[in-house]
Amino acid sequence: TNKDIATPIRTKEILKKHGFSLKKSLGQNFIIDSNILTKIVDTAGLNKQTNVVEVGPGIGALTEHLARSSKEVIAFEIDDRLLPVLEDTLSPYNNVTIINKDVLQANLKEILSNKLDLTEPLMVVANLPYYITTPIIMYFLESTVRIDTLVVMMQKEVAERVTSAPGSKAYGSLSIAVQYYMDAEIAFIVPKTVFVPQPNVDSAIIKLTRRETPAVEVLNEKIFFEVVRAAFVQRRKTLWNNLSGRYGKNEGVKEKLIEALDYAGIDPKRRGETLSLVEFGKLSDGIYLKLL
Ligand code: SAM
Repeated sequence: TNKDIATPIRTKEILKKHGFSLKKSLGQNFIIDSNILTKIVDTAGLNKQTNVVEVGPGIGALTEHLARSSKEVIAFEIDDRLLPVLEDTLSPYNNVTIINKDVLQANLKEILSNKLDLTEPLMVVANLPYYITTPIIMYFLESTVRIDTLVVMMQKEVAERVTSAPGSKAYGSLSIAVQYYMDAEIAFIVPKTVFVPQPNVDSAIIKLTRRETPAVEVLNEKIFFEVVRAAFVQRRKTLWNNLSGRYGKNEGVKEKLIEALDYAGIDPKRRGETLSLVEFGKLSDGIYLKLL
């Protein structure tokens, strides 16, 4: 509608009215095209039974779309200069709560359980501040609050890393960390022209859907993620190089590392980027059983 915050004219008016200057260091690139926001809400499949967590409401462009289509919206905004702005722009909505905190420092469970019934469906929908995309995603995935779906905007290049499969250039420890918990897909690409100010690169909306169980069953999760990280320390090197770099090069260790790889049925000359999550699972089980 023409009352939307997300138009070039309305956004300019709001910024001017409140004398607000955008802070690059906080990743403040605001959306000025409401078609994108409609598509985000459609991708999330929101309804009036669903509660939503937003990170970084900015001046409320996405927040108002979320408020119209969901039950309750809890939005974390670190920049206290935006509080009076949001009070103004979101005054028509009585189902939005702004939490003036760095989301990564917030006790999610405590804050949400004060406001929401956590047995109801809960989603994260956000246009993320790009300087902390990865920490924010991992924060939600690892939280004790069970989040079933995340629909989030990030740089296209990061979205490709999150969603890529073995063998592709973008596949790495981030792909595996996310896909361990979630089914991951790029929903659509967003051109940089729909933001003010315009970022240097295009963006993408990704949709993450919680898996019933993790993508692979492992004996020890901590070791699994440790092996994954070790395998990608030097992308161009073989598993053998990276793993012996991590676990040690003396004869005793070497022998056990060979046994571990053998247990997993994995050729030490392969590179980490070729291993599926299931193969990483077997390898980490092997290392756990034979080496540690
Ligand atoms: N949602 C608005 C939109 O789509 O137009 C603004 C998105 S803007 C890309 C990112 C927002 O995140 C900014 O409002 C910024 O102040 C906020 N932000 C940055 N770091 C944050 C943090 N650690 N915790 C909460 N919000 C943060």
